Amino acid sequence: MNVSAVPELAPPLRLLLGPGPSMVHPRVLRAMSTPLLGHLDPRFLEIMNEVQAQLRAVFRTENPFTIAVSGTGSAGMEAALVNLIEPGDAAIVVAAGVFGNRMAEIVGRCGGRLVKLDVPWGQVCELGRIEEALRKEGKVKVVAVVHAETSTGAQQPMEGLGKLCHAHGALLVVDTVTSLGGVPVEVDAWEADAVYSGTQKCLSCPPGLAPLTLSPRALDAVKARKTKVQSWYLDAGMVADYWAEGKRVYHHTAPISMVYALRESLRLVLEEGLEARFARHRRHSAALMAGVAALGCSPQAQEGHRLPSLNCVRAPAGVDEGAVRKALLNEHDIEIGGGLGPLAGQVWRIGLMGESSRQENVLAVLAALEQALA
Ligand code: PLP
Repeated sequence: MNVSAVPELAPPLRLLLGPGPSMVHPRVLRAMSTPLLGHLDPRFLEIMNEVQAQLRAVFRTENPFTIAVSGTGSAGMEAALVNLIEPGDAAIVVAAGVFGNRMAEIVGRCGGRLVKLDVPWGQVCELGRIEEALRKEGKVKVVAVVHAETSTGAQQPMEGLGKLCHAHGALLVVDTVTSLGGVPVEVDAWEADAVYSGTQKCLSCPPGLAPLTLSPRALDAVKARKTKVQSWYLDAGMVADYWAEGKRVYHHTAPISMVYALRESLRLVLEEGLEARFARHRRHSAALMAGVAALGCSPQAQEGHRLPSLNCVRAPAGVDEGAVRKALLNEHDIEIGGGLGPLAGQVWRIGLMGESSRQENVLAVLAALEQALA
């Protein structure tokens, strides 16, 4: 490659209806192109405070420790788990898809004693099964669940889970990467202890930050550790001193433009209002699901537990799902996702997240699918 002849960037204009990233509002793109501040500039420190307050509103929590981890959703997952799990600690992980399995992998890497509750992909885990595992295992440090399993389109019910965990002395870790800002997330009402997300799904911001909130109970567990957190970068104690108002001890250089972007995307979320936003996600998902059913697709996720943000449907029998996705991309500039793991070649994952959840996008993808299937 002649590197000096690499042309100016001009990516095609795609309609992003896959599992993420989602479409980004022009206001967010504009915020990213505003001039940088130094990361310890007094105005930037105020901006960090603003983002923390916005995140508390969206997470529906009073947790003082509510920050944006520098890194994608996986950094949020890793931050939650590496801080809470010490070698030998038991952790129950509900694995109902790719992301539950990723949590299980991280627990293993922390030296935790993994108790994996495997659930068929597309199903959710009954509270009774988690209770049984808690009873059987005795001392459990953490119970980890994925609220919105992007690989299957299933939404894990959260009612009663936090209380159950606390009654057994365990902490509750929740992945809300594909739900925050699109599906109700109620950190305090759930009594969840460590909840993380990503910016590129229902918040409609580019990927690059991982909102994370830790309850006082989780912070006590971090303080009570006998061993140092094995990750220097994600050590909650050190990151907390960086984000804590009045402290702001240098830890790492915040990704300034990403923080601007998140601030603007959260302004958009809160301007719309959470309830209105959730209703919009439900409305467009219902329309899409009705449309794809007419095209011969059936939902992958268990009835009553289907995510409005990520619509996972089985391709009609005999259809080459990969060829259809290719046609959508090449002929219509529409991106949708394929299946992962055991669902590869069988399902489409159509994301209607944040800015992508619009009536015109539902109509566009249905028309394109109809044409590709004709
Ligand atoms: N958890 C869930 C439920 C996800 O959907 C994803 C990404 O799709 C992740 C975690 C990891 O996030 P990232 O790819 O931003 O690292």
